[in-house]
Amino acid sequence: MVADIQLSDAISRVKPSATIAVTTKANEMKRQGLDVIGLGAGEPDFDTPENIKDAAIRAIREGKTKYTPSDGIPELKEAICAKFARENALSYKPSQVNVSPGGKAVLFNAFMATLNGGDEVVIPAPYWVSYPEMVLLAGGTPVTVSCGPNANYKLLPEQLDAAITPRTKWLILNSPSNPTGAAYTRAELKALADVLVRHPHVWILTDDMYEHLVYDGFEYSTIAQVEPALYDRTLTMNGVSKAYAMTGWRIGYAAGPEKLIGAMRKVMDQSTSNPCSISQWASVEALNGTQDFLPGFRAAYQARRNMMVEGLNKTVGLHCPKPEGAFYVYPSCASLIGKTAPSGVVIADDKTFASELLESEKVALVFGEAFGLPGTFRISYATSDAVLKEALVRIQRFCAALS
Ligand code: GLU
Repeated sequence: MVADIQLSDAISRVKPSATIAVTTKANEMKRQGLDVIGLGAGEPDFDTPENIKDAAIRAIREGKTKYTPSDGIPELKEAICAKFARENALSYKPSQVNVSPGGKAVLFNAFMATLNGGDEVVIPAPYWVSYPEMVLLAGGTPVTVSCGPNANYKLLPEQLDAAITPRTKWLILNSPSNPTGAAYTRAELKALADVLVRHPHVWILTDDMYEHLVYDGFEYSTIAQVEPALYDRTLTMNGVSKAYAMTGWRIGYAAGPEKLIGAMRKVMDQSTSNPCSISQWASVEALNGTQDFLPGFRAAYQARRNMMVEGLNKTVGLHCPKPEGAFYVYPSCASLIGKTAPSGVVIADDKTFASELLESEKVALVFGEAFGLPGTFRISYATSDAVLKEALVRIQRFCAALS
C-alpha cells in the first residue's frame, strides 16, 4: 500500500491560486505548440530597466551575495523611507520598514504575525485571489463585501461600517485594484477613513502595488496620507514588481508601527530569512535611480486600456467599465450565462466561459468567481498591442457565436 500523507487542516481550507493556475495552463499549451494568447498573468511585459539590472550585476561582482538582515538591508530601508516621503508625504523610520520576498510575503507575514482564530479580515470583492486564502492559512476568517459594477467595484463607507464587528482585525484596501483596476480618489478614501476613525480596533492593510500605474492624470493617494489619524494602525504595502517590471525579483515592502514590523521580522527569522540579497540591491537602484521610464510605461498601458475597454464594449454580451489604473480590465459576461457554444457546451457560469474560450479560441483569462464576483472575468492587458488586437478578434468571435 502506498502511504498517503495527512495534510494539515490549514492547507485543506485553502484553494489553489486561479491566477497562477491559468498562467501555468496557458504556458503548458504554448509549450505543446498551440497558438495561445495568455491574458491571465498579471505581470508587465516590459523588461526590467537596464540601470536596475546593472545594479544587480554589480552586487554579484561585489560579493553582496550573503545573508542580510531578515527584513531587509539598511540601504533598501532608507530608500523605501525616502520613497514614502517623496511620493506619499508619509514619514517612516527604517525601523518601521519590512522588506519581504514579494508583496505576497509581506501580506502573509503580517497575517501570521497578527491573526488569532476567529479574527476577521474585511475584504472588498472582487479581491485579489490570495487575500482570503492567506487569511485562512493564518487562522483568521475572511469577511468579503461584494462591490459590484454600479459602484465601480469600490467599497462604500456604509458597506464598510456594516461589515465591521468586534472581531474585525484588518480591512484590506487595494488601490488600484487587482483585479478591477479601480482606484479610490482622495475623497473616497477620506469617506472610508471617517468610518475607520470611529472603529479604533480595526487595522488597515493597504496594498498599493499598482500605485504608479494610474491613467488620465488620476491623482494617487494612500489612506495613511489622507487621514493621519490612521497612521498608527495602517500597514502601507508596496513593491517593485509592477512599477519597475520586476515580478521575478520578488521584492515587496511595507511600513507601519514598529511593534507590528518587529513581529513580522520574527516570522521571517523563523521561516524564509532575508529576501534575495541581489534583488534587494537592484531594488535600491529601482527606488533611488531614474524614474524616467515610468511615464512611458504608463502611456503604453493607458493606450492598451483604452483599446481593450472599447473593444470589449463593442462585443456582444459584454460590458466593461473603464478602470483608473493597474493593467487589468474587468468585464461582466453575466448576459452570456446560459447560452450555448458551437461545441454544444452550455456557458453555465464565468468559469465555463473562460474554459470554453480557452478551448475554442485559445485565449486564456481568469474567471471572475476566483476574485469573489461571479459573472465577470479579468483580462491582463500587460502585453503587446498586436497580441491584444488579436485577442479582441477572438473574444468577439467567441461571444458572437454563442446562441
Ligand atoms: N499578481 C499577479 C496576478 O494577479 C501574479 C499572480 C499571482 O501571484 O497571483 O496575476
